Amino acid sequence: MTLPAPYAAVAAATKGFLPPDEGAALHAAAADAGPGLWLEIGTYCGKSTVHLGAAARAAGAHLVTLDHHRGSEENQPGWEWHDPSLVDPYTGRLETLPSLRHALWDAGLDEVVSVLVGTTQQVAGWWTSQLALLFLDGNHTEQVAQHDYAAFASHVRPGGVLAVHDVFPDPADGGQPPWHVVQRAVRDGFDQVSVTGSLRVLRRSAARPAEARLEPGSPGARLLLAISGHPGLSAAELRHLTGLDVAAVGRGLLDAGLVTSSRFARGDCWVRTGSGARAVAALRG
Ligand code: MG
Repeated sequence: MTLPAPYAAVAAATKGFLPPDEGAALHAAAADAGPGLWLEIGTYCGKSTVHLGAAARAAGAHLVTLDHHRGSEENQPGWEWHDPSLVDPYTGRLETLPSLRHALWDAGLDEVVSVLVGTTQQVAGWWTSQLALLFLDGNHTEQVAQHDYAAFASHVRPGGVLAVHDVFPDPADGGQPPWHVVQRAVRDGFDQVSVTGSLRVLRRSAARPAEARLEPGSPGARLLLAISGHPGLSAAELRHLTGLDVAAVGRGLLDAGLVTSSRFARGDCWVRTGSGARAVAALRG
């Protein structure tokens, strides 16, 4: 599936670091993600946002695009990818938000795309929505790339799409953090779907049946009950309480969509309302 002409013209005219073949692959992957909520991390001026937004409109999805809009390290003065025309004279800092707003306006995508201005650290603490698609293209330092993956990939629903940009397995081609993120995603059960240039598309495997993991007395059921009965316990405390390998059992609950891993990672376990709460109620009989 190729980007329809009116969008393609806007995308081509928008500043960014997404070659046409990678843009086409991103658009095609998004078209397969289905309806629901999509999240892009690292908006810059909106070139990839137009690719994703066009697919979101066709799929009946809604796209949230998140960026602080002051540029990554490589966009700052003196660095390789600095564009002086994007400096805001008021702040003296890089400012890409107006360029994004113009791109969305030109593409007619204002209603399909919600623009979220902030850092991923600001948003990670309160984000709880399940994602049909996650595109990771934010800050590429190891610390932030790993943070962004840990904070948001756990929200990708079973069968959902994870796309990662600027993936270079060979250090001679570019920085390694996005590649490390892809390797981590594969270890976490994401399947690789396609490679186009530095764009990797992965998909979270479909959920294993929740019932199989929630037989009364099963490790999953015991952990879920412990989480529910002792809200706020850390993973270490839960391990002590239940004698379970909390990380391994939690992974099963995660695959079943009953808990969120970012909370596990922070040691702040939390049962989803909805399916998790119903499962707990059923287990309690
Ligand atoms: Mg990129």
